[in-house]
Amino acid sequence: MTTVPTDGKRKHVFIRTYGCQMNVYDSDRMADVLRPLGYALASAPEQADLVVLNTCHIREHASEKVYSELGRLRDEKQLRRAEGRDLTIAVAGCVAQAEGEEIVKRQPAVDIVVGPQAYHRLPELLAEAERKAAVHKAGKRVPGAGVLDTDFPAESKFDHLPAPQGARGGSAFLSIQEGCDKFCTFCVVPYTRGAEYSRPAAAVVAEARQLVANGAIELTLLGQNVNAYHGEAADGSTWSLARLVREIAGIDGVARLRYTTSHPRDMDDDLIAAHGEVPALMPYLHLPVQSGSDRILEAMNRRHGRDLFLGIVDRLRTVRPDLALSSDFIVGFPGESDSDFDDTMRLIEQVGFASAYSFKYSRRPGTPGSSMPDQLSESVKSARLAALQSLLGEQARVFNVSKVGQSVPVLFAEPGRKPGQIIGKTPWLQSVYAEGPQRLIGRIVETRLIEGYANSLAGEIVTGAYEAAA
Ligand code: SF4
Repeated sequence: MTTVPTDGKRKHVFIRTYGCQMNVYDSDRMADVLRPLGYALASAPEQADLVVLNTCHIREHASEKVYSELGRLRDEKQLRRAEGRDLTIAVAGCVAQAEGEEIVKRQPAVDIVVGPQAYHRLPELLAEAERKAAVHKAGKRVPGAGVLDTDFPAESKFDHLPAPQGARGGSAFLSIQEGCDKFCTFCVVPYTRGAEYSRPAAAVVAEARQLVANGAIELTLLGQNVNAYHGEAADGSTWSLARLVREIAGIDGVARLRYTTSHPRDMDDDLIAAHGEVPALMPYLHLPVQSGSDRILEAMNRRHGRDLFLGIVDRLRTVRPDLALSSDFIVGFPGESDSDFDDTMRLIEQVGFASAYSFKYSRRPGTPGSSMPDQLSESVKSARLAALQSLLGEQARVFNVSKVGQSVPVLFAEPGRKPGQIIGKTPWLQSVYAEGPQRLIGRIVETRLIEGYANSLAGEIVTGAYEAAA
């Protein structure tokens, strides 16, 4: 095992998180794994003995950003070695999984490369890195230890991770499912995160209880394909996401429940019904559609068409009329014509989204899309993205403004930039900032929305709501 300091001096780890909420969750769990080894969290790499870059491989240039950050860390390591100190550098996440050994070849200062399925092995990897670093110490070079673990181990990391520590601002993520078997032709996830895996229902429910005991009142269930969840229950039956949602919503103290990211194919009847029947399930759903053109959806291997998506939206809005919808869009997929793009714009107009993420298609090495003919020029992609974002931005602004004048429950999660300001979320996941004391952080407080903008709202806490929340 790696050395736990006995001289009262704590070690520090700095974890930089790139990408999605799954990575935010994984970073928290890595901190949980490292805590018993004596590592406290540092707020900057300069204060850390160990720096972990928890990387994302979804976007183009993602790995280049990681390599330039690694260059800076190598310089820091070099400086420290000259002073007889050290810095351990670890690369985790999807770039680690996808590039493996290549990372150590390109940046020899890296000590550890660890894939998303192997975080529970961090203590062993650190111990091995320490041993190798000791061997290098006599030398003047700056190489790291180069310890690699990018296997998809037979055992689940979830069985080996310690109990989660806490909730930020009353909110916590809970990973219930990982990996994906859908193989959309633009996506690296099936290659970096592996096959679809659902955690056993009892383990998820136990972790939910633990998070609530640690102060969480809002839980967000996470998975790359979260609504494909099919966890084994104690009686040998299989629980769907809907079943799990109903169970977790019943835990005393769970005021808000969310889940992300979903696939339209896996929105089953029970899950749609749960949106109308489970009050804790918040009226917000992120449901990626990617394109409004059936031809492009097929080329993307999405396994759903435009009509299936629109039908689901209708059914969801029937059971939960105030549901806010968010989605993902990719413009400029190979072969996308003007008319395909128009189909996407028409779908956006028809649905009306409260928020969305949109990107130009970028080739991810190893995915079928990267070798498809008819790759579009950057200028066409940029023009389409600008048009699409302008429409989506206006829809988001209109949605925010539509809430002005209402008093709604806001879960305040963090201090704002200005003194005396706090920031929280409405049930529809809109950001709200208001004047209020810090003690309201982690609480749900009735707040009147007074102004709406493209990305947020201004609010004022309803008189008397302080006391109700106290
Ligand atoms: S369903 Fe989602 S995670 Fe799976 S391949 Fe498609 S985009 Fe990637």
